[in-house]
Amino acid sequence: MTHDADIIVIGGGHNGLTAAWYLADAGLRVIVLERREIVGGAAVTEELFDGYRLGPCAYLCHILKRRVINDMALRENGLHIFPLDPASLFVFPDGRSFRMWTDPERTAAEISHMPGTTGADADGYLRWIRFWKRAASIFDHYFLKPAPTIERIRADLADSSDFEVFETMLTVSVRELAEDHFGDPGVAAAAVGTADYGAISEVGSALSQAYFKMSLLQAEEDFGIVRGGMGGITQAMAASAITKGVEIKTGALVEQIHVPPDGVNSVTLAGGETLSAPILLSNADPKSTFLCLTDADAVPDDYRHVVESLTTRSASLKFHAVLDGLPDFTSYLRHDDDEAGLAMIRMIPALDHIELSWNDAMIGRPTRYPLMQVQIPSVLDPTLAPAGHHVMSVWVTYQPVTPAAGSWDEVRTNVEEQIIAELERYAPDIRDRIVQQDLFTPDDISDRMAMTDGNIRHIDMSPDQLFAGRLDHRTPVPGLYLCGAGTHPGGEVTGAPGHNAAQAILSDLGR
Ligand SMILES: Cc1cc2nc3c(=O)[nH]c(=O)nc-3n(C[C@H](O)[C@H](O)[C@H](O)COP(=O)(O)OP(=O)(O)OC[C@H]3O[C@@H](n4cnc5c(N)ncnc54)[C@H](O)[C@@H]3O)c2cc1C
Repeated sequence: MTHDADIIVIGGGHNGLTAAWYLADAGLRVIVLERREIVGGAAVTEELFDGYRLGPCAYLCHILKRRVINDMALRENGLHIFPLDPASLFVFPDGRSFRMWTDPERTAAEISHMPGTTGADADGYLRWIRFWKRAASIFDHYFLKPAPTIERIRADLADSSDFEVFETMLTVSVRELAEDHFGDPGVAAAAVGTADYGAISEVGSALSQAYFKMSLLQAEEDFGIVRGGMGGITQAMAASAITKGVEIKTGALVEQIHVPPDGVNSVTLAGGETLSAPILLSNADPKSTFLCLTDADAVPDDYRHVVESLTTRSASLKFHAVLDGLPDFTSYLRHDDDEAGLAMIRMIPALDHIELSWNDAMIGRPTRYPLMQVQIPSVLDPTLAPAGHHVMSVWVTYQPVTPAAGSWDEVRTNVEEQIIAELERYAPDIRDRIVQQDLFTPDDISDRMAMTDGNIRHIDMSPDQLFAGRLDHRTPVPGLYLCGAGTHPGGEVTGAPGHNAAQAILSDLGR
């Protein structure tokens, strides 16, 4: 029988597009089916407010793999990244602040001048960065390869000085590590960041932290704010994939994945159209793929059980606003700061705050201790808003997947007010600057992006769900593969799961 394609990719997120590119580059006929009218998944640009554009989900390009950028010729297809240095302005409720630069010595110097810190905090920062660069390098080594087991990594590192670093990642919590490096609670919290992979006092949390510290290895030109929003990445990916012959259909919601034992693999779209291909590659999250989309009798019970038991506890909020001018953060700025310094501001007051926030989320309470990453990308990118106006995105962790009392819609107004009140502590005029606003709750992220439980990395990035603990691209369902953030190495905009899934398929096809 003639198939519609060699491979059908279900979902046009950045990993689906990346996989499609590598498969088409190897000469295969690939169709990508995306349910929305735009490709990109959570890495998109949208006009949430008339005349203003922003990335309503992902908003920072920090660990997108250089190999993917180069292979897919993303820059030649329009990608432009405004480098972000300082990477962040950290502001604290007690009026203190420091900037985190790509040069650790420069950051250490700022820390040493911040009231309340000692030379030990500045030295601690340099040790901290050295440790995480080594830890991240271990991760990086396996990023574009099949997922290793922990035992495999141990064996690989047996004769290396990094063995000790890896053991530390497995046996020490992030909190312990931070307390070992810093005396100042603010510097410690800033160094840890919005660690939304679980409790920072859990043993093994350092393994998860290492994934996000991969940004320390990112080349300066590949780290920052994407011109035109994160859709700049996925539009370039789509353009590049099309030049390889990939057919992309948008507005194509896959309702059912059919994998009959001796029949033809196919998908049925909303509207009834059926398309067939010997290989189906799902960019949808694992729970959607196996618990909702795939023929129930095609999924072996033990595998279904594995998928059901994957955790999706880490939820977050995204608040967006149009500003009629820059908010007044002047009490945190220095004489040599310019507007660009407001591109990324982080409010993570103390390690205790991080713990309390996580604890609230785990008991179903919209957190009383919001951790906020505020981005005003229009200070770097004039294409997003009319002159003089700005767009602002605030990512707020941690949050419960479902509030214990009331629904997200019922608590929406209170939560929006809490975010604005919290911002007001740092920028007193923020309320007057906001002319339009919008909040994405975990329910909104789930509905809009088709991410189960609003989990922005498809499943938690907890230590047990990394490396071989994440799902493999190969599944026990014949002809059905996975390429999304729920597979190795994990979430964020990296291109790695898409790249790795394509390599697994090509290897199975003997190419
Ligand atoms: C609020 C938020 C903030 C974030 N911030 C950052 C950040 O700053 N930096 C960063 O690197 N990462 C960030 N992330 C994480 C990052 O965006 C994700 O981990 C990444 O997008 C995952 O990519 P993916 O291609 O695997 O999946 P997705 O982006 O989820 O794409 C999956 C695609 O499949 C489609 N799909 C699903 N089901 C079907 C179906 N049945 N039929 C057809 N199509 C379907 C979806 O519509 C979607 O387009 C953020 C995510 C969110 C939500």
